[in-house]
Amino acid sequence: MVWYKKLHWKIIIGLILGLIWGIIAVPAGLDSFTMNFIKPFGDIVIRMLQSIAIPLVLASFIVGITGLNNVSKLSRMGGKTIAIYMVTTMFAITIGLIVVNIIAPGKTLSPEIQQELMASYQDNIGDRGAAADEFLERSPLQFLVDIVPSNFFSAASSNANMLQVVFVALIIGIGLIQISSKKAKPLIDFFDSLNEVIIRIVDLIMITAPYAVFALIAAVIVDLSGDDPSRTLDLLTALGWYTIAVIIGLLLHASIIYFSLFKLFSKMRLIDFLKGIRPAILLGFSTSSSVATLPVTMERVEKNLGVKEEVSSFVLPVGATINMDGTSLYQAVAAVFIAQAVGIDLSIAQQLTIVLMATLASIGAAGVPGAGIIMLVIVLQAINVPVEGIALILGVDRILDMCRTAVNITGDAAVSVAVASMENQLGEAHYDD
Ligand code: ASP
Repeated sequence: MVWYKKLHWKIIIGLILGLIWGIIAVPAGLDSFTMNFIKPFGDIVIRMLQSIAIPLVLASFIVGITGLNNVSKLSRMGGKTIAIYMVTTMFAITIGLIVVNIIAPGKTLSPEIQQELMASYQDNIGDRGAAADEFLERSPLQFLVDIVPSNFFSAASSNANMLQVVFVALIIGIGLIQISSKKAKPLIDFFDSLNEVIIRIVDLIMITAPYAVFALIAAVIVDLSGDDPSRTLDLLTALGWYTIAVIIGLLLHASIIYFSLFKLFSKMRLIDFLKGIRPAILLGFSTSSSVATLPVTMERVEKNLGVKEEVSSFVLPVGATINMDGTSLYQAVAAVFIAQAVGIDLSIAQQLTIVLMATLASIGAAGVPGAGIIMLVIVLQAINVPVEGIALILGVDRILDMCRTAVNITGDAAVSVAVASMENQLGEAHYDD
């Protein structure tokens, strides 16, 4: 395929053309045309993504859990795996928070732009005060109560209730592995096929992504630049620093956390590990999908790194669904960046909420392109930052998706080596490609 026909190039082209359009639209008098006739196409794509969020979480989570297939296995290996997954994810988020607070990409914007961004998200602000008051009046354990829906169908009717959907998916998944396989099969097959359909729908939506990126970026630039082109430059500088913050965070996480994981749990050297799974990392980078890369990850981990199938067939599929170190790190950086860009100073308590919510959001995100940005909504809602701020970062999201997916896959493979080593299921490694 010629290079410019590949989706990520098309998106980069859409991004650049959107920028150019945005910059010339105002002097050319095309600003209201851009807002009235171009921006809606971007909005439609965002809505399409939002509309599939709940079925996406439900199906991919249930499929991941039923992959464990028996409860005693779930409790032994599952306990270890999930504990390591959670700990590495929390480290990832912490690294993301440290990096974004140090680099502070959103603070490079001038106060006027911050105010203008905030004003354009004004609709939400009215609710925020009320929501904050309500939050303060709640009992400390209310968040646990809130995870459990009193009616699943009403929970599934709003993206804001994503955690309740995750909870229901978890108990359905556990129920399914506890009943006879004959009885469970039709439902597992149903969710499996629902999962496939949704992944296909995401693929279809992604075809329109270059146009959506063009429309959204053009609209953001027109909206902000007004008569003053220096504002555009301001915004681009901030986006550039934001991208750099995510990439630095991902590199730090991969080198510090996975290095420590290998030191603690196995004799394998990080460099040999990376060489062994290189094709999977590259495939993850170019497809932006942990799930699409899964067969290659499994093959490399078993063949090159010597992880026994018993471990890899359980740790990796679950990891592709629930373990996303790259995604959670990115969500932390993105949430703080958007807050900074609209001039909200996040308290320590809000940053701790990010640790919790980004952990949950990355668990809920499916291993498909763009899932992380959909789940970012629940992180933003939890800290009362306007969800519309996502439009700011959408233009660079595909590139960051490629990078974070590569880290997600590396994390799954690293944990499979650690668990195999603990369970004495790590054989000979061969580092050939
Ligand atoms: N694309 C990522 C993955 O498949 C998920 C995300 O959007 O962050 O791992």
